[in-house]
Amino acid sequence: MRKPLIAGNWKMNLLCSQVPAYFQTLMQSLKGKPGQRTVDILLAVPAPFLSLAREMAERDGLLIAAQTVHEKAEGAFTGEISLPMLLDLGVSWTLVGHSERRQYFNETDRSVALKARAAVERGVTPIVCVGETKDEREKSLTETVLRRQLETVLAELPRDADWVIAYEPVWAIGTGLTASDQQAQDAHAFIRQLLRQHSGEHADAMRILYGGSVKSSNAAGLFKQPDIDGALVGGASLDPLEFARIIDSMS
Ligand code: PEP
Repeated sequence: MRKPLIAGNWKMNLLCSQVPAYFQTLMQSLKGKPGQRTVDILLAVPAPFLSLAREMAERDGLLIAAQTVHEKAEGAFTGEISLPMLLDLGVSWTLVGHSERRQYFNETDRSVALKARAAVERGVTPIVCVGETKDEREKSLTETVLRRQLETVLAELPRDADWVIAYEPVWAIGTGLTASDQQAQDAHAFIRQLLRQHSGEHADAMRILYGGSVKSSNAAGLFKQPDIDGALVGGASLDPLEFARIIDSMS
């Protein structure tokens, strides 16, 4: 059985001074108590909040992730954050290859694969984001794009690597458009089949999250799909009450 994972991605939002109140509201609103939770809850927060968020998350039984990481351990890479820096803060998760990183910061399939490999080698779990653009979907290229993005990563990782995939159709991110339950399930089933070809039975233990305008009003239908193991939630994770409702619809 795969334990569901609901991840929030704050992107470049909120302030460090708002972190304590966010955690307090989230924890008060969640139905399940920390020891009884059947869902993993993760927040990918801006780098300046990592240390504080990690402390609070430890107390509340949540996981904290960086939003991106550099593949090199150190060096002249101004502005970047390394895996040893994350580990030094007690952070052992990171997003990799979010479509906004690919679109605005020129991340490529290759650089995403190198980041994922470096993370796995250091014991940091990468949540690797993949997904097609609107144009690619309209040209029926969804599976071609997913195959290309994932095979580049799979070529760098051991068969039994500990990582998570987030299927995030670019046309659904921050647009209010969500893939239908069936569109999402079809893409997830395709991804799992690709994983099976590379990793055999390990594919059945791997979590594949859906991302793209997930809200409490559409979460339950998505979560019922057999290959959807949770969500990566952007905008709706900024409101702790709404994020709690999404988490509770998986529990
Ligand atoms: C995301 O940031 O990964 C995302 C899916 O954003 P949103 O939920 O706002 O579409």
